[in-house]
Amino acid sequence: MSTTTTTTTTTTTTTTTTNKPPSHPTLIQVHRSPIPFASGAYSLVSLPAGSLFCPITGTTPSRKAYTSVQTGRDTHIELNSDLVYCNHSCAPTLDFDMARMEVRVVADRDLKAGDPLTFFYPSSEWEMDQPFQCTCGAGEKCRGVIDGAKKMEVAVLREYWLNPHIEEMVREREGV
Ligand SMILES: [Zn+2]
Repeated sequence: MSTTTTTTTTTTTTTTTTNKPPSHPTLIQVHRSPIPFASGAYSLVSLPAGSLFCPITGTTPSRKAYTSVQTGRDTHIELNSDLVYCNHSCAPTLDFDMARMEVRVVADRDLKAGDPLTFFYPSSEWEMDQPFQCTCGAGEKCRGVIDGAKKMEVAVLREYWLNPHIEEMVREREGV
């Protein structure tokens, strides 16, 4: 994509000039893959269950897309940071709280340095822009096709922390 005509005048110029600098250099290690959807984020820190991982800043309003995160009934944002590399898992390490705009370690498990940074996409997404077959490796806890909270059973959703807008839409669907 780069059309830079390199007229290298210093020895400090490297290929990294075509990438954005890490947004969370002390927290997140990004493993980039040329294979679509195979990139991922890994933790550089160990933190206790339930603690703040980082605030969510620098977002911009967006239409629903495969990189966007749903923040309300009809609202979506782009993260514009390395948080976008946090993949879905059915046994996630993080909760993305889009009401308080913060990322927390899940309430029932400590985060260890080296762990994949993941969250349960249906905790924010009612209907995924691009449903996918999950390969999270969570064994029988893996939910298979992930297409958002809309089609998931309440009993399954109850095993996860959910954003307020998803809670509300589930209650509405169930008529309670
Ligand atoms: Zn899974």
